[in-house]
Formats: sequence, C-alpha cells, structure tokens
Amino acid sequence: MMAQYLEIKRAHPDCLLFYRMGDFYEMFFQDAVQAAAVLDIALTKRGQHLGEDIPMCGVPVHSHENYLQRLIRQGIRVAICEQMEDPAEAKKRGAKSVVKRGVIRIVTPGTLTEDSLLDSRSSNWLAAIAETAGGVGLAWLEMSTGELVVQPVERVGLGAALGRLDPQEVLISEKLAQQPDLFELWGEWKSRLTIQPNPRFDSENGKQRLQSLYGVGTLDAFGLFTRAEVAAAGALVGYVELTQKGRVPRLSPPRRVGPGAVMEIDASTRRNLELTRTLTGERRGSLLATIDRTVTGAGARLLSAHLSAPLTDPAAIAARLDMVEFAQTEERLRGGLRETLRRCPDLERALSRLTLGRGGPRDLAAVRDGLIQAAIVRQLLNDVSPLPEGLALVDRRLGEHGELVGTLAQALAPDLPLLARDGGFIARGYSYPLDELVTLRDESRRLIAGLQTKYADLAGVPTLKVKHNNVLGYHIEVTAAHGDKLMTGKGRETFMHRQTMANAVRFGTVELSDLERRISEAADKALAVEVGLFNELVDAVTARADAIALAAHALAELDVATSLAELAAERRYTRPLIDDSLAFSIQGGRHPVVEAVLDAAHAGPFVANDCDLAPDNRLWLLTGPNMAGKSTFLRQNALITVLAQIGSFVPAERAHIGAVDRLYSRVGAADDLARGRSTFMVEMVETAAILNQSSARALVILDEIGRGTATFDGLSIAWACVESLHDVNRCRALFATHYHELTMLASKLPALSCHTMRIKEWQGDVVFLHEVTAGSADRSYGIHVAKLAGLPPAVVGRAEAVLKLLESGDQNAAIHRLAEDLPLFSAALKRAPAPTTDSAPPPSGPSPVEVALRAIDPDSLTPRAALDELYRLRGMV
Ligand code: ADP
Repeated sequence: MMAQYLEIKRAHPDCLLFYRMGDFYEMFFQDAVQAAAVLDIALTKRGQHLGEDIPMCGVPVHSHENYLQRLIRQGIRVAICEQMEDPAEAKKRGAKSVVKRGVIRIVTPGTLTEDSLLDSRSSNWLAAIAETAGGVGLAWLEMSTGELVVQPVERVGLGAALGRLDPQEVLISEKLAQQPDLFELWGEWKSRLTIQPNPRFDSENGKQRLQSLYGVGTLDAFGLFTRAEVAAAGALVGYVELTQKGRVPRLSPPRRVGPGAVMEIDASTRRNLELTRTLTGERRGSLLATIDRTVTGAGARLLSAHLSAPLTDPAAIAARLDMVEFAQTEERLRGGLRETLRRCPDLERALSRLTLGRGGPRDLAAVRDGLIQAAIVRQLLNDVSPLPEGLALVDRRLGEHGELVGTLAQALAPDLPLLARDGGFIARGYSYPLDELVTLRDESRRLIAGLQTKYADLAGVPTLKVKHNNVLGYHIEVTAAHGDKLMTGKGRETFMHRQTMANAVRFGTVELSDLERRISEAADKALAVEVGLFNELVDAVTARADAIALAAHALAELDVATSLAELAAERRYTRPLIDDSLAFSIQGGRHPVVEAVLDAAHAGPFVANDCDLAPDNRLWLLTGPNMAGKSTFLRQNALITVLAQIGSFVPAERAHIGAVDRLYSRVGAADDLARGRSTFMVEMVETAAILNQSSARALVILDEIGRGTATFDGLSIAWACVESLHDVNRCRALFATHYHELTMLASKLPALSCHTMRIKEWQGDVVFLHEVTAGSADRSYGIHVAKLAGLPPAVVGRAEAVLKLLESGDQNAAIHRLAEDLPLFSAALKRAPAPTTDSAPPPSGPSPVEVALRAIDPDSLTPRAALDELYRLRGMV
C-alpha cells in the first residue's frame, strides 16, 4: 500500500494527498505533519518506511469538507485520492493485493464547487493572464456557475483588472512570473498565484482546446478574440481539465469585455472608495453592503460584479436603468417578483455540480424549484405590458422548461439525501420496477415484525424481541434468564443460538435469514435502479444545461434590477441621465453610505450638496476645516458616478453625468507598510498615475495632496498638480486642500473655481454646517477640532496663543520670539545638541521636579493624595 501511496504522491508533488482508506482520508509523512498542524488534529504513526516511523493523520470522509475548507484557506492544494474499486474485488485478486486508487480531483481555491466551501453571495473567480506578441489577455471563469469572460488588457492595467476581479486564484506562466516589471504585482498577489509551465499558455493549444470544448470549428462565432485572450482562456480550461481529471463543467460561451467597455478603477481608488469592502477589509460599511437588497445568492454575486465594473456605454447603462425604473414604478409587480425570487435556490451552482458529475438529489431538486419559480416569474411579467426591452429579454431567457420540471417533480421524493448513493430519493409511483423492489423490502420487514409474536408464542417468552444490528443482522433476543427455554423448549429446532451476552441471549432462524437476504437483495437492487434513474435525470438536466443557465442568469438580472428599484424607493434615489457629453451636474447629492449610517443612528439629516463640473468650470478647489465634510463631499460624487454607471438610481435630486471612463480617487491613504512605502511615497505614486493617465473623460478626486511632507514642499507639489490637471489632463476634478494659498490660482486658471464648507461661529464655538458654497475658507479651525478631540485645555490655550503670534506677521521672526520668550516652548527649542563625550557640560544640579519626586513617600500616600501629587508634578514641567 505504501508503494501505491508513494507513487500517487510522486505524481502530485505540489498537493497535500487525501488518501482514501475506508471511512477516512489519511495523510502520511510531511503531509501529515503539515495537516495536523493546520487542522489541529492528532498526529499518529503507522508502520515504518526506510527504518523510520511514518507520521500519519486522518479526517473522516463524512465531515472532510470542513477540513478541506481550512486547508484551502491556508492556500494548500489538496489532491483527493479515492478507492476505485470495492475492497472485495481486490481480495479476489489475492489476499495481499491492494485496492485500486486514483486521484479524482485536485481541490484549489479557484476550482471549488461545493456550497460548503463557497460563499453564496460572492463569486469565486479563477483567472489567467497570458502574453503573446500581440499583447496581454486576461480571462476568468467561475467553476461553480460556468461563466467565462475574456478581456484584452495593458500590462500597466493588470493591477487594476485584478483588483476589480479579486480572483481567488491567478494562473500565470513561468515566463510571465519572471518579468521584472511585474515583480511588484506578483508580490501583491503572491498567495493566490499558481505558476504553470509556458506551453499551457500557448495560443494555438488554447484555440484547439476551446474549439473542442464548445464543439465549434472556429471561435469567430463568439466575437473577435486576440491571441492573448485565447491563450488565457485556453490556459483556464486546461487547468480545469487538469484539476478535475478531465471533467469540465458546463461553460457558457466566452463573453468578451472589449477595451474601454468598463470604467477603469485602479486598486487604490477601489480601496479608498470602499466599493465592495471597507478599508479594514469588511463587507459591512462598504457601498455594496449599503445598496445590496438582493434576495438570491446569484443576484448578490451579479450586483457585486456590476459594482466592480461600471459600464461606459450610455445605451447599455440606459437599458439597465429602464429595468430599474420599471420595477420601481410597478410596485406590485416588484413585490411579487421579489417574493418569487426569494424562493429560488442557487440554480447556477446546482447545475454546475450536476454537469461536473458531482451533484446529488438535492441539486436536482434545486433545478426543479428554480425552474418552477422561473415559470412563476414569467407569469408575473406577462401580466404587465409593454415590458421594457431588458425585461422582455429576461422573459425570453427564462424559457420554457415545463417538461423537465414535470419529470423532476414526479421523480423526486419529498425528503432527499445529500448523496445519490444513499438512495431513497425517487418518489413512489415514478418507476414500477423500483416500487416492486421497495414493496418486497417493506413486505419482508412487515413479515419480520409479525414473526415476533409467532416466536414469542413458540418459545413461551412474551418478552422475546426481534432486533437488528450490523453484526448479526436480524435476530431474536431474550434475557439471560429465558435463554434455556429457547435452547431446550419446543422451539429448539427453530432457534439457532448465535450469541450469549452478560444479560441477554441471541438466536437466529432460517426464516429470519431468508427474509433478511430478501431484504438486502431488494435493497441492493432498488439502489441500483435508483442510481440508474438518478443518472437519467442528471442527463435530462445536462441536455438542457445551456437553457437552464440562461434562465438562471436572467433570474439574477431580475434580482439585481428589482433590488435596485427597492433601494431607490426606500432611500429616495432618482434616475440619473448618462450620456456622451462632458457634463457633471449633481443637484442635491448625498453620500449613500454616510447617509444610511446617519439615518440608522437617527443622527440628524444628511446635508445634500450640489456639484457642477461643466467644461468651463471643471476643476473645483475645496477648502475648509477638518471634519467639515470635505472628504464626504468628494467621495459622494465619485460614488454617485459609480452607481449611475452600473445602472442604479442615485442619491441625488438630479444627476446628469457624461460617462466617465476612468475614476481616480486619492483620499487619505494609510501607510502601506506591507509594501515598505511611507504615506507620502504612496501618495506620490498614486498622484503620478493620475497625472499620467487621465484624459478629459476621467473623474479625479484628490484629497489633501502634499500633506505628507514639509509645508512648502507640499504646497509646491499641490500647486503643480492643480495646474497640470487644469491645463494638461483637462478632466473633471475635485481637489480638497488645506493650502489656502492655492485659491490664488482661481484668477489664473479659468476653469477652476473655489468652494468651501460653510461654518457658523456661535458663542466662541464653531458649528459645521456640511454645506458647500462658493468661496474659500479664511481659517482652518484646526485648533477647534483639537479641542473637540479632547486635547488638554492648557495645550489648546497655548496653541491659540502661538497661532495668534504666527498669524501676526513675519513667521520666522515669530518662531524665534516664541523660542525666546515663552516658557512652554523654550525648553524644546533651546535644548543644546546632544552632548558628545569630550565637550559634555558639567552636570547641573537636580531639577525642581526631581527634588519634588525624591520628597515623595509613595507608601504613605492615599490614592487621592497620589493623584493630587501627580497633578502638582505635572504643573511643574
Ligand atoms: P473632512 O474631510 O472635511 O475632514 P469628513 O468628510 O470626514 O470631513 O466629515 C466628517 C464627518 O462629518 C463625517 O463623518 C460625517 O459624519 C459628517 N458629515 C460630513 N458631511 C456631511 C453632510 N453633508 N451632512 C451631514 N453630515 C456630514
């Protein structure tokens, strides 16, 4: 057996091997050591290899998915090795012969299909990147839904594209892995990379693989693909074949995302805007979580995909908006649709498991139920007319599945086991031969039940029982005291002694064993018939897989449209107008997430603000104190744009946006310590990308550029950036800054205008009105914010005095005066440079604080007195 193990392991060196032995998956050697540590299970020993003990551990087959999930999360790939024959078969070949085994599947993060290993509301993408002489291609697929997409990309755009997809696993070639300009990107995605030999990314191989997969002579029918796209898609399919040992799930025809079809949002903008996750990595608090009203897993996945890739084509956006608008006005229809959708199981994922040969009776039921709901949806849609084009398309795609549903409804029993091999899932009345066998089995069971009375009479033991266990099968049991009666009484010919226990004696009879054999034969035959029927049903589903997948996708689209309509109604969102102009006019705009948070906390209304970046006024400079609402205003305009371009209504009274092709946001980055860069460096790298890449169609949002360095450095950089945005990039931009000096640019740059956050000063306090108005802030109120944050009153008072002095005239002179005159600063500024050994000044006497400290006798102080003492000491410094 060890020889067999080692041979299989040798063929899968990069995987942990789950080696099936009876009811367990066992692991040996280094695999066992690693798995025991990750899974926190006992490490034992079994036999010896080359004179050393063999470490071993194992997980039960029935609960292995749990363990699998933990291993996958750690980035460990698992090869599942099954017994390929009944152990009895092996025995027939000879006492020492080993059961045949083989790897049936390699489980990797990007190739999961089990519900227990997947999050029902997130996609699980497997991506591949290929480069040919003509360019770079990106392809991605989801095994569990059969979706396959390709896109041409630029090398520089790879990071953004991966950020958008957030794939669980990325395939690249050895060659691509060695490209120095991509090292940094690979570093970021290290834990999700799977490096494959170069030939797997060959475009000619890829073409053939795809053609044979789809059974077509040419790929032209699917649209124009570049060689790099074909190579990437081919690598994906090849990898699926490799890990699934030749089985490929049903894949939809490849869909192509053309160049420029989706809004480019780079990874840091995506993070900053917290589209699908917050800066701390949670879903809660993200834009997605705030707008998500979907009621199905597939709908949630589609909404998330839409949000990650807003469209740029006004017509495509309008088509989505039409559906949302229709669902928003037709309130009753919406209610009915949502209720129906809520009852839809995950059709896509069930279908994929069935086509992969990994499905069970419950997946058949999911197909049945999903299609039943699809039919109800069609009825609801057909009750209203005319439908907007998008919904009419959904209606057609839902299709007609009556016959299949009828078959499944008749075939499946009400209670279904997880696995087909457990049997008992075919309904009575569906198959005559099966019913016969089941009757035979039940009849025999009834006969056995009747035997108990007969035997009790025969033995004269009323407490005699007929029982069943796995070792003896059906048998008679009496208490020890009555054992003799059966062995010597009038039934002694009938009862055959089987077993004597401490307080019971067990017997068999010929009749019992006959019935038992009949039961087990009938059960075996019944199971074989059931498995045959199961396969027939799976074939019936697979034969219609494309139509079912189309229906599943249509249901997801409907879920997204109705949930966005629900959101619009609930939160008073309005339909935006998106066109090819360069307009950007938002009236009464609100921040979707901050507004929802304020509402939930009953923390007062969100103050709506206008924003108009018309071509002659496309650059807004926004000044105002901290906490006045600058970042919120900046982000809300970016988020409204994203929402509008995914085809959602937006939190504004009115919005007219000329489609944005690239969105950039540089908003308060945190130190990127993981990459060893300071805040300032990160800020500059991101700013460079913006200035290098944005054209007139871009929307740029910059918050406090240059803050991470010395004042004059920062001001100069910010100044130059504003000039470049205005003259070179000519894009629509919002620029928030602390540098009031920048407002001087308004007189020089015609398309720049100054705006500020309104503040009210009242009885010496400052109130933030969160209102954006024309003009610039005259003060920054930083000290006010410091006070709100709880800085000690003495420090606040001191800061106010220093500020007054600094603002009174020449700053250099003021700083020197501060250092000379005022005691609080003098210690710090006057302190001599650190003494060197040869010129150390003679030590002066103890300071007053030291004297006071020495005078304290801690043991004699009450806590209260100690506190007073502490205050007194602090007063002395
Ligand atoms: P800044 O960027 O100017 O420092 P923020 O945008 O971070 O200020 O806003 C600070 C806080 O003020 C936010 O967390 C939010 O609670 C509140 N706020 C901002 N804008 C508004 C608004 N328009 N209406 C109501 N509250 C707002």
